[in-house]
Amino acid sequence: MIEMLRALVAIPSMSSGDARHDRGNQKVVEVLGEWLSDLGFSVAQLPLHGRPGKYNLIARLGAGSDGLVLAGHTDTVPYDEGAWRSDPFTLTERDGRLYGLGVADMKCFFPLVTEAIRGLDPARLRRSLVIVATADEESTMAGARALLDAGERLGRFVLIGEPTSMQPVRLHKGVLMEAVRVLGRSGHASDPRLGNSAIDGMHRVLGALIAWRAELERDYRDPAFEVAVPTLNLGRIEGGDSPNRICAECEVQIDLRFLPGMPVDMLRTTLIQRVEEALAGTGLGVERRALFDGVPPLCTDRSSPFVRLIEDICGAPAGAVAFATEGPFFNALGMESVVLGPGDIATAHQPDEHLPTERLRPMVALLRRIVAAVCH
Ligand SMILES: [Zn+2]
Repeated sequence: MIEMLRALVAIPSMSSGDARHDRGNQKVVEVLGEWLSDLGFSVAQLPLHGRPGKYNLIARLGAGSDGLVLAGHTDTVPYDEGAWRSDPFTLTERDGRLYGLGVADMKCFFPLVTEAIRGLDPARLRRSLVIVATADEESTMAGARALLDAGERLGRFVLIGEPTSMQPVRLHKGVLMEAVRVLGRSGHASDPRLGNSAIDGMHRVLGALIAWRAELERDYRDPAFEVAVPTLNLGRIEGGDSPNRICAECEVQIDLRFLPGMPVDMLRTTLIQRVEEALAGTGLGVERRALFDGVPPLCTDRSSPFVRLIEDICGAPAGAVAFATEGPFFNALGMESVVLGPGDIATAHQPDEHLPTERLRPMVALLRRIVAAVCH
């Protein structure tokens, strides 16, 4: 397992909205494809439309669409140059931990899966076993979106090996990132009649957004989450160029984390309504645009047989995490997703990302029990 993980960590597969840091994932997918075809899987490498060098992998053992899917992403986030104690692409073992970029989030999952299913007798499978490895989870979720567009239910149940410290998870919030741009007219600062200040308008917009946030906090609450209410962060603002000019344009960018049951369309519609109300009568224009397509919340039903099974095997109730996953895209295809992986989210996306070596064996044992319970 450690040698397999070493091979995956050595292949750079960062994905990023910043082209300087973005790499393809084809080599990772090729290596996984070799491992899985050696185990008797039929492997498909699917290029993502309009994204050269980016691939999803779907490997199947057995027929049908009512079996188990073991899913993960092949990309990592970029790394901080010079901030690591050891080379991020060289798997390094020290103090009972494995260090490397993506070890916890989540390259470790594929060696664990490969080990867990080694020696599996295809003749014993009553239901299909499918391994899915996606591209671009860390940037755009383009891989998961492509699976959704393809429209195929790959199985009934999906286990996603994102870092949850081996605790089962069936809930996370949805994420929207939106820009609101106020459009005014420039003019000489000495006479307000010569223009229409977008910054003055933005003052109203900020007030409206903060008031809306208070309403969301009052009206929505789910105690399963550590932060039990939706959040609205005013993350970035930009406008104007000079104190002696009336500001013509001002933009604020917000991040909204919303609870299961809150529809994306309702949020986007309410956002623009509140902003337009705030600017009524000012003569200022306004534009809203999505900074990315958004991720829906994950909410796999508490009573799902898969949730029950995983809770039983782990001996712990399925809970919520603060980060987003590809789960909602699988659920939109009629599957039931549970997130469960050996990494710790606290070490992900930062220098010296690591995985406790002692987690490997227990995670393989969990995976074997899950495969046996669903597929045998
Ligand atoms: Zn991840």
